[in-house]
Amino acid sequence: MAGILAQQLPEQALQFAYLVSGIMFIQGLRDMTHPRTATRGNLISSGGMFLAVAVTILWFEILTPAILAAGLLIGGVVGAYLAVAVETTEMPQLVGLFNGFGGGASAVVAGAELVDVLAGSGDLGVGLTASAAIAAIIGSVTFSGSFVASGKLHGIVGESPVSTNVGHALKVTFLGVALVAGAVLVVQPSLFGGVPTAEWVPVYWVIVAAALLLGIFLVVPIGGADMPVVISLLNSYSGLAAATTGFVLNNTVLIIAGTLVGAAGMILTIIMCESMNRSLANVFFGGLGGDDTAEEMEDIYEGQITETSPEEVTMLLETAERVVIVPGYGMAVAQAQHAVAELVDLLEDSGVDVEFGIHPVAGRMPGHMNALLAEADVPYDKMRELEEVNPTFSQTDLVIVTGANDVVNPRANEDDDSPIAGMPILNVEDARHVVVNKRSLSPGFSGIANPLFARDNTSMLFGDAKASMQSLVNEYKESNS
Ligand code: NDP
Repeated sequence: MAGILAQQLPEQALQFAYLVSGIMFIQGLRDMTHPRTATRGNLISSGGMFLAVAVTILWFEILTPAILAAGLLIGGVVGAYLAVAVETTEMPQLVGLFNGFGGGASAVVAGAELVDVLAGSGDLGVGLTASAAIAAIIGSVTFSGSFVASGKLHGIVGESPVSTNVGHALKVTFLGVALVAGAVLVVQPSLFGGVPTAEWVPVYWVIVAAALLLGIFLVVPIGGADMPVVISLLNSYSGLAAATTGFVLNNTVLIIAGTLVGAAGMILTIIMCESMNRSLANVFFGGLGGDDTAEEMEDIYEGQITETSPEEVTMLLETAERVVIVPGYGMAVAQAQHAVAELVDLLEDSGVDVEFGIHPVAGRMPGHMNALLAEADVPYDKMRELEEVNPTFSQTDLVIVTGANDVVNPRANEDDDSPIAGMPILNVEDARHVVVNKRSLSPGFSGIANPLFARDNTSMLFGDAKASMQSLVNEYKESNS
C-alpha cells in the first residue's frame, strides 16, 4: 500500500533517506569507538534509526495510526522502565533479550513476507526463499539461544556447563532438519514439479521450530560464566538475521543496519575471546573448567596472607608519588565507583599522580569499568589500557586492586594448566606495594586461587569495595586535615 510520501515523491527519495540513515549508523558507530564522543554517536545512530522507521512507515503505510501509537506507547514505556530499573551489572542479560527479540522479529518478518508473496503473485524466486530460510535459521537460533543465555546470567537457568553425547546428537539432528527443510523451501517447486502455493508455508515453520530447538541445545551446555561471549556472538547473529530479512524485503537500510550489527558483534566477540586467550570453539565446546579445591587454595594461601587496614593503607598513600587503581567486577557489584573517584580527587589534590589500569575483560562486559568510572566523572585520560599501564607498574609506589581478581592473577603467566593460562594480565606485582581489596579469599570468575594475594609485597584489605574505599577517603581526609 502506498503511503503519504510515496504518493508525492519519487522512489529515489526513499532510497536517499535510507542512505542518509546508513551514513548516520556508520558515523554513530565511529563516534562510539571513543568514550568522549560515544554519547554523540548514540544520538546520531538513534536519529538514523528514527529516520529509517519514520520514512518506512510514511512510505508504505503499513500500520494504522492507532496500532502505531499503541506500539510507540508500549515500546516507549518498556524502554523507559528498563533504562531506569536495570542495574549496570545486569546489562549483559538485557542486551541478550534485545538480541533475542531482534532475531525473532527477523524470522517472523521473513515468514510473513513469504506468506504475503504466496497469497499474491505466488512467485517465489530462489533469492527470496534462500534469504527467508537463512533468516529463519539464524533469527530463530538467536531468539531461543538469547533467552537461554539471559536466563543463565540471571540465575533462572542452570549455570553449570553440561556436555553430553545426547546433547551433541540432538544439536546435529536439529541443524540437519533445519538445513533440509531450508533446502526444500529453496529448490521447490522445480524439485517436486509443483507450483508454489500456501501449502509450502509449513516448511518455513519447520525450519523455525528446528532452529529454535537448535538455539536451546547450543547454549544450554555452555557455562554461565561464558554467557557474555555467547551474547556478543548472538548479537552478531541478530544483525545477520536482520540483514537477510533485508534481502527478503528488498530493504536497503535493513541490510546496512543488520550488516553493521553483524560485523560489530563479531569483532567484539573476537576481542573478548582474545582478551581471555580462548578460542570461540573453546567457549562453545570446552567450558571454563577452573574449580580449585579448598585444599589447593590453602596450599597457596596458608601462612602467606598479610592483612592490612584502612589506616595502614592511608599511610602508604601519604608517602606515594604514583598510585594505580585496578578495578574489577567487585567494584561494579559494590557500586564503589563514586568512593573510588572521591579518593582519586583527594590524592590528586595532594599532588599524587593517579591512574587507572583497566583490563579489557575486567567486570562482566566489555567497557564495564570505563562506563562505571565515567559515571563517577573520572576523566577518560586517567583510564589506561593494559598495554599502556603494564610498563608503568615498576615505577608505581602503590597499586590498589579493588574487586578484581582474575585480571591480576599471575597464574596466567606461570601455570600452563590453569584455565586462564596465556590470558594477558595486569602485572601489578611489579609495583612496590599492592593492596588487594575484596571481601574474602574467594576466587573470581575463573574459580581458581590467586597467588598474588600471597606475594610479599601484597596486603589484603578485606571488606566490601564501597565501604573500604569510603574508609580510605575518610582516613585520608582525617590525616590531611
Ligand atoms: P573476577 O570475577 O575475577 O573477581 C571479582 C572479585 O570481586 C571476586 O573475587 C570477589 O571476591 C570480589 N567481589 C565481589 N563482590 C565484591 C564486593 N562487594 N566488594 C569487594 N569485592 C567484591 O573479576 P575481574 O574483573 O578481575 O575479572 C573478570 C573475569 O570475568 C575474567 O575472568 C574475565 O575473563 C571474565 N569475563 C569478563 C567478560 C567481560 O566482557 N568483561 C565477559 C566474560 C567473562 P570476594 O567474593 O572475596 O569479595
